[in-house]
This record gives sequence, structure tokens and C-alpha cells, in this order.
Amino acid sequence: MQRFPTARDAALALRPDRPVYAFAPRTLAADARAFLDAFRGVTAYAVKTNGEPFVLETLAQAGVKAFDVASPAEFAAARAAAPEAAQLYMHPVKASSDIRLALETYGIRAIAVDHEDEAAKILRVVRGLDIAPEDVTLFVRLATKGHAAYELSKKFGAAPAHAVELLQRIDRIGFRAGLAFHVGSQVEDLDSYERAVASAAWVKGRAGVHIAALDIGGGFPAPYGRDLRRPAPPPPPVGDLVRRVQTEIDGWGLGALPLVAEPGRVVVARCLSVVVRVLLKKGQRLYINDGIWSSLSDSWTGKITLPARVIPDPARPRPKRAAAPKLTPFRICGATCDSVDILSRPFWLPDTVGAGDWIEIGHIGAYSLALRTRFNGFYPDDFVEVERAFEDGEPVDGAATLEPRGGAG
Ligand SMILES: *Cc1c(COP(=O)(O)O)cnc(C)c1O
Repeated sequence: MQRFPTARDAALALRPDRPVYAFAPRTLAADARAFLDAFRGVTAYAVKTNGEPFVLETLAQAGVKAFDVASPAEFAAARAAAPEAAQLYMHPVKASSDIRLALETYGIRAIAVDHEDEAAKILRVVRGLDIAPEDVTLFVRLATKGHAAYELSKKFGAAPAHAVELLQRIDRIGFRAGLAFHVGSQVEDLDSYERAVASAAWVKGRAGVHIAALDIGGGFPAPYGRDLRRPAPPPPPVGDLVRRVQTEIDGWGLGALPLVAEPGRVVVARCLSVVVRVLLKKGQRLYINDGIWSSLSDSWTGKITLPARVIPDPARPRPKRAAAPKLTPFRICGATCDSVDILSRPFWLPDTVGAGDWIEIGHIGAYSLALRTRFNGFYPDDFVEVERAFEDGEPVDGAATLEPRGGAG
């Protein structure tokens, strides 16, 4: 990767017509360390959030020693980047052949389930491989309710009474029994975690079997931008939230359990920007060379506002004007011919922005590269390395779309 101090420097040097990703390894390492330092258990980074080799390698160097994986491709990526790291197979519904690969080739011994038939499926593979069940921990994934920006319990999780039976069954078979929950993604309130911990305590009490570990999942919120029409308080620093969840765990008498967490978004969001180019300006609409089918699908759900700043093209003649540029909400239209390829939240940019300028869109490290498609023939894949991530670049034209600092502490 070519190196530049900031994404702006890369844009001005390369003058790219295609999107360019600016990766800040120092920011990634710092955000990983912030989580590792705050959390007293095992931090298993959720590979699906961003499984690029350079991300996994940077995390391993920063001290991440475990990975939450869900598929053979993720087993291989984690193994390649961090051969010594533990892998936890936390997908509740799996193919038998993948379970076999996990146990046999990757030595995985921690697996999630939310149904007795899945436990039976795993038992058949374990017996076939002549592995002792007591060497394998089956984590029962609990269903939870909360206010995550993305609510995931609609799909996975056993209701508390069902989880009790599952734990007892797992224990009877001879597996080690664990408890897990995952409250969603971009969870900005402590309540969701509080309810999940309370539910875990109830289930553990009822089940009356030995619990080997408690996995509190991911969902910790990353800092994003601000829509000036809908100001919202920034999420709490991750360290605060993690410590409060741990206090909850202690309060429910679960403090002696070994803990696991599976953060994704909060670790990787800030380390990546994408520099896109404005192809056309139509009034308050900007047509750019990226969109929801490439790097920006996570923002299309309307749940998050991405911070953005203009990088004016110095080669573009600019009309002399008396008034200072005014921050204006622009609709952002994506590169494909698809009419849904429009971002659901505006970017607040100086009204002087025009065709040929670049826009640096920050905090796209989570669920961006992993969700790119080849739709319509657009597939951004150019990378540079930068020393300073989005908010450490110079303020540009007063485009104050970033929340005040504090979200990623
Ligand atoms: C996606 C996922 C995560 C990571 O979630 P974030 O919101 O990115 O922290 C963790 N655990 C499981 C089981 C997941 O599916």
C-alpha cells in the first residue's frame, strides 16, 4: 500500500476517479487496545465486520488473541493472519461439513447453538472424529430484546426456558456448557446489556449445571457523524460501557465466570475512510462514484450517519464569491443505475462542493469492504495506508459532521 499522512494527501496526489480506501493501522491498533484494556475477559474480534488480511494482522499485532468466526473462509482468514489465535465458532446454525472442518482442521473447541438438533448435529461430528465431548464448549445463544440499531434476536437465540433445557441437555451429553448473547449492533444504551445479563443469570440459576463461560457478544457502538437536523448525543466511550456491563455481571453474581466478548464495529469503524469523487452536482444532489452496493451499504439502513468532509479539487476553477460557504444537506446518489442507490441520510457539506471534488467519508471500517458487490461492474478495491484517520485530518471547510470526540475512548 502506498503511504500518505492523511486521506486528503492521498486524494491530492493520486487524483483518483475511483474510490480509494484509506487505512489507518495506528487507529485500528489504538481502538483494539482500548477494548482489550477495558474488558477483563477474552476479546474475540468478530471477523465478519471486516475480515481483510491487513485488518486481522494489525489486530493480532495489537494483542487480539481470539477471533469470532462463522464460516470456512473466516477460519482460513483468521488462521492466516494469526496462526496462534483461538477461534470461536459462534454461528448458531451450521453445515455438518463446516463443523467437521472447524473441529478437525482448525482445532476449534467453542461453538454456539440455539437448538437441540444443532447440539445433536455437533455430537455426531464429535463422535465421528473421536473427540471427547468434555473438550468442547457449546455456548447456548440466548434470545434478547433491546434497542439495537440492528436487532438480531429475530433470527437467532433460545428463549430463556428453552435455554435452560438446552444447557441441561448439553451438560448431560458431557459437553461443557457456556452461555452467550449478542444484543445486536450499534447498541447505544446499557439497558440491552442489562436485560441480557439478567436473563443469563436467571437461566444459569434455573439450569443448575456448571457454566464454563459467559460470552457477552458484540454490539458496542462506534462513533459516527451527526445529521445537523437530528442531533443525537455521542455514544459513551467503549471503556465506560464495557465497565458498566462488567459491573452488571458482578451484580448478578456471575463475576466468577470466565468472560468472552465479540466486538466488531467498535474496533474497526474508525480505521478506514473512503475517498470518493463527485461526478455530478444537480442542485442539492451529489452523484458520487461509490454507493450502497459498494462501500456504503451499512449507512443505507438509515441507522447511522457517516461523517464526511470535502476535499476541493485545486484544479477546478472556483467562482469568486463574497459570502462564506454555507453548510448544506446534500442527497448522495450512488454509482450504480439502481434507483435505491441513494443514501438515506444527507451529508452536510459546504455549498461550494462541486463535480470533480472529492469527499472523504470517515468511519467506514465496519461492514463496508465485506459488503461490497460487483453490481453494475463497480467494485472499489484501491487502498492506501494513512498515518492519521478521519478525525485527525485537518478540519475542512468547517464541515462539522463528526460527533464530538469521546465515542471510541
Ligand atoms: C456480528 C456479530 C458480532 C459483532 O457485532 P458488532 O456489532 O460489529 O460488534 C459479534 N457476535 C456475533 C455473534 C455476531 O453475529
